[in-house]
Amino acid sequence: MKKIVIVGGGIAGMGIANTLADKLKGKAEITVVNKEDFYFAGPSRPLILTGEQNYHRIIRGYENVGSKGIKLVVGNVYKVDPDNRKVYVSESTFGNKDSVLDYDYLVLTPGIVFDGSKITGYEKYWWKNTTVYDPGRVNVLKERLWSQNEGTVIVYAPKAPYRCAPAPTETTLLSHTILTHRGVRQKFNIIHIDANDKTQPPFIMDIVKQTYDKAGIQLVTNQEITEIGEDYVVTSSGEKYKYTILAMLEPNRAPKFIDEAGLGKGYVDIRSPQDLRHPKYDDVLSAGDAAKLPFPKNQEIAFESAMFAANKILEMEGVSEKVPVQYAFVGWAYMGNLEGKLETLSLQFQMDLTTQPPKPTKDPQLKRDYTLQKDRWEQAYLEKLFGYKAI
Ligand SMILES: Cc1cc2nc3c(=O)[nH]c(=O)nc-3n(C[C@H](O)[C@H](O)[C@H](O)COP(=O)(O)OP(=O)(O)OC[C@H]3O[C@@H](n4cnc5c(N)ncnc54)[C@H](O)[C@@H]3O)c2cc1C
Repeated sequence: MKKIVIVGGGIAGMGIANTLADKLKGKAEITVVNKEDFYFAGPSRPLILTGEQNYHRIIRGYENVGSKGIKLVVGNVYKVDPDNRKVYVSESTFGNKDSVLDYDYLVLTPGIVFDGSKITGYEKYWWKNTTVYDPGRVNVLKERLWSQNEGTVIVYAPKAPYRCAPAPTETTLLSHTILTHRGVRQKFNIIHIDANDKTQPPFIMDIVKQTYDKAGIQLVTNQEITEIGEDYVVTSSGEKYKYTILAMLEPNRAPKFIDEAGLGKGYVDIRSPQDLRHPKYDDVLSAGDAAKLPFPKNQEIAFESAMFAANKILEMEGVSEKVPVQYAFVGWAYMGNLEGKLETLSLQFQMDLTTQPPKPTKDPQLKRDYTLQKDRWEQAYLEKLFGYKAI
């Protein structure tokens, strides 16, 4: 039995675990290590703000994949040793003690962490900041947007690549929606500061700008936030902006243990988008947001890269069957509702990465139906990867 250890039981990790459990049945022991004993999906998290999404619909437990023979270790991987094929896991509330796992194949799919350490004042004022990016902070952001009556909302996107290109735009427009719904919008300024020359993804910026203009939202591009204080941020040009609500996405990177193991600076080094092995180790692969892919970091790319990684393991195991996969995705950006109805409209876009240069397309018409379509898409992924529907 080959031992396959997958670090991170999210979209990429569970994509690989399910595929290999199926294709290598009886030939491999598959262990997924995840920090928590649940998974919290990303794409519709922003709708927690407007109350259009509920936590219970986007949280999944791992129990139903256990029946496929996939083992689960709950704990934080804090070190890997690729020369000696070892993975070190810290104790968790699930009852696992500190443990060391051996492997024949190691798949690194831990996603990203948010790193504000280079921003002056971050250590002192971290608590002033919220985002839609994690379950606790989105909850705090919701509370602030629904309880404050005047001030300035600042939303920030760091330099790309970061997880989910349109999420800062979504945060901005959903903030506008909530404040309009509450009848206090005219007492707020909303400012989106972006470290990139365009909001992301760049090919939807024209529609974003038109919508911002209609909503009276200020857009500042090409400016990194370099400092935060108790009620202000400073950008790279030295400009100071006062805030009462701050939703600043910190620069992203893979967890530190990757760099410490010499597997890559920032993200995990890979040979190519189709061959996700580490350049130095045939038995170490990566996929999803943690991998140094030349593509946007989103769920579709995470899943597709996972299928390429699974195919490579199948090939190395002498299995000729492959999972059909190519890099292309459809995405939806929540564009809020300018009239303040808690019924978000979305923009649909697509990107075909199989052509050079990649071909983006979009429907410039914002539609309510796209919001519902995104929900069906997200739910379908969760059912496929975790083995059950939300009730
Ligand atoms: C707010 C938000 C909005 C988004 N919107 C969209 C969207 O509209 N469309 C889209 O396609 N994508 C969207 N995404 C992005 C999408 O969710 C991610 O790209 C995708 O989940 C990446 O998959 P992954 O497997 O690489 O990481 P994840 O799905 O994050 O999984 C990583 C897993 O690894 C675990 N882990 C991390 N570190 C460790 C460790 N040290 N030890 C053990 N376990 C660890 C984590 O707990 C997690 O369960 C959004 C994400 C967010 C947060």
